[in-house]
Amino acid sequence: MDPELNVETMVNNQQDVILVVDDDPTLRLLVRAALEKAGFRVEDAEDGEAALRMFIKHQPAVILMDVDMPKLNGYEACKRIRADAVGAHVPILMVTGLEDIESVNRAYSAGATDFLPKPINWSLISHRVRYVLRASRTYQDLRTSEAKNDALLNAMPDTLFVIRRDGTIMNFLAGSEAATMPEPRGDQLTIDTYLPKDVAECWSSRIRAVINDGRPQQCEFQLGDADAPYHYELQIVPYLNDLTLAIVREITDRKRAEEAVHKLAYFDTLTGLPNRQLFQQQLSTAIKRAAENGTKVAALYVDLDNFKRINDTLGHNFGDAVLQTIAERLDRCIRSDDSVLRPDADNTELRLARLGGDEFVAILQDLEDADDAVAVTERIRTELRRPVEHLGHEFVVTSSIGVALYPDDGEDIDTLLKNADVAMYQAKYAGRNSVRFYSGTMSLRSLERLELENGLRYALQRDELELHYQPQIDMASEKMVGVEALLRWKHPERGNIPPSTFIPLAEECGLITPLGEWVLRRACRQVRKWQEKFGLKIDMAVNISSQQFFHSDVAEVVLQAIFDAGIAPTSLQLELTETILMHDVAEIVQTLNKLKKAGVSLAMDDFGTGYSSLSYLQQLPLDTLKIDRSFVADLENNKGNAAICAAIIAMAHNLELDVVAEGVETQAQLEYLRSQGCDKIQGFLIGKPVTATEIEKTFLQTAATESKVDSV
Ligand code: C2E
Ligand code: MG
Ligand code: MG
Repeated sequence: MDPELNVETMVNNQQDVILVVDDDPTLRLLVRAALEKAGFRVEDAEDGEAALRMFIKHQPAVILMDVDMPKLNGYEACKRIRADAVGAHVPILMVTGLEDIESVNRAYSAGATDFLPKPINWSLISHRVRYVLRASRTYQDLRTSEAKNDALLNAMPDTLFVIRRDGTIMNFLAGSEAATMPEPRGDQLTIDTYLPKDVAECWSSRIRAVINDGRPQQCEFQLGDADAPYHYELQIVPYLNDLTLAIVREITDRKRAEEAVHKLAYFDTLTGLPNRQLFQQQLSTAIKRAAENGTKVAALYVDLDNFKRINDTLGHNFGDAVLQTIAERLDRCIRSDDSVLRPDADNTELRLARLGGDEFVAILQDLEDADDAVAVTERIRTELRRPVEHLGHEFVVTSSIGVALYPDDGEDIDTLLKNADVAMYQAKYAGRNSVRFYSGTMSLRSLERLELENGLRYALQRDELELHYQPQIDMASEKMVGVEALLRWKHPERGNIPPSTFIPLAEECGLITPLGEWVLRRACRQVRKWQEKFGLKIDMAVNISSQQFFHSDVAEVVLQAIFDAGIAPTSLQLELTETILMHDVAEIVQTLNKLKKAGVSLAMDDFGTGYSSLSYLQQLPLDTLKIDRSFVADLENNKGNAAICAAIIAMAHNLELDVVAEGVETQAQLEYLRSQGCDKIQGFLIGKPVTATEIEKTFLQTAATESKVDSV
């Protein structure tokens, strides 16, 4: 079998048309014969123009083209085929004379692929055509594959660089992402000239590492405006020899999302300040630095005074707006310290945080001594003293500030913060609107306070509270007409804790509302019990904290307690203190009138220690005035006190108020008060505050029989 006629070549060759162009019919015939014998399909044309027509018609795989032809010569026909998109790559063999170098050159410049010398070697022509065909197919495959690669690479978001060991950029392919890296210009052909210095260094070190140990390397970098930079991720992998492939992907969106998450996790949404978590990290860094430099760090706890009241009375939206204003002011106060404390301070470094509610905390770094912190606390107080304006309201928000210094007051963040908090509580305790620097003796007292506050929260549930009752005697009849209910806390470990200790605490932490309600209900039920048991009408005086007027509807609570106990409202007397007048008097008067109308009687307790002004007494619908026991205490020896007592009694009678003197301990005091017309007395002389059972034993049982107390 003819080796050129195997099945494979037949199948392959059959698909390929070979176009033979020659004006010599004999030659065409011979070529056709030789090629058809090798399994090719052959079409022929007798001149250049016919060749163009046949080319369009048959799309030949190879063209054999004679040079000299009528109508259109071979060069011209070749040029025109090349000009066609389909003909651009078709192999064209120009048939020329072997010696005719001039023709060969012309053939190449007309776009011929190769030339076939005359006289034609008939035994080789089919091999020659097959070779050209194979080369053309390989070239075609390569082009297809390249086109695919190009399409792939063009669709890739990543930007590719081929970079040599010395940093020369050998190749660049832009990615499709929005903020792709720009193509290196002519004067930027190394990474040092193409990239900013810090980024170039990051790339170089990775490239060296990849070339040295062959393992891929990664890093992130950013370019562009520092305020709104583009973020990129760089991956460098080994390529050929001393080349590396750098794949750069833009990750700005991902970074921004990460930042948003970070913001949520580490920043307070209301004020935009760092939260507790971030603050602790920053404080820890500040402490480390101070330890290295031998400097001090101050932690400032800033707590707004009476903020709860703003929130309660004006609403949370209002409260939020106030907190934002305060946060801005505090931030300004602390930042403006840069020039004094840290000329090299990085502006983005955070120094103020909101720990929650109305609690802010600030870090001052690189201090020489405590005096440096004093200036800042003073500035904060001055700044906060300026009235806050919001929606037409204007008011002053003062603050209590506690300061603790590293390393003096604590060497770790927990101790430092705890002690700053302790100092802040001391500032509050000292009457608010003040600053306290931590001192060692504080912690015990404050810790104690904290413990008490916690204990008090559970005291109600654990049944540790009890009411004691102190008798009040009517001066004229010398009969017991009533009792004052006084709260007692039997602490499981500390024993009895006096109300002077825990009532202010309860007022501060808001527990006074449930506590006060408990006292009211308990006292009203006691009145009911005594009525039922002894058939006697005992007036019950109950102390009401001014705070209760704020955090609850006092009138509602009192009348409900009376109703639930089933007693006459006239059995109850409420003891108010003068601090009540620090609140909105018109509102207070309204509440008191409501109670008064229902039959409840009202007393002003501890009179003489507060405002002591007649004008307010006239405004309030009072029944009774209780002279503070400090005026009664040494009546006998202190002429001033005696005179004050006499004046108070006279004035009260003038206003048609009953007068009760408290703290009467001696007979002499009693006599003097009687001589001045005092209506009732209360004090150790008559009886100390005792339990309900004891009152029953000492007063009520005998009174019931001797009718020392009025019958119901
Ligand atoms: P207060 O209302 O002025 O009560 C009278 C205080 O004087 C009581 O102190 C009582 O034990 C004390 N006292 C009475 N007679 C004498 C005396 O002859 N000599 C001396 N040295 N003291 C006498 P206590 O029980 O320690 O209560 C202190 C304060 O705690 C009360 O003063 C009252 O303001 C407050 N308090 C007590 N219970 C309650 C309560 O249930 N609610 C409220 N909001 N405050 C209460
Ligand atoms: Mg009282
Ligand atoms: Mg009193």
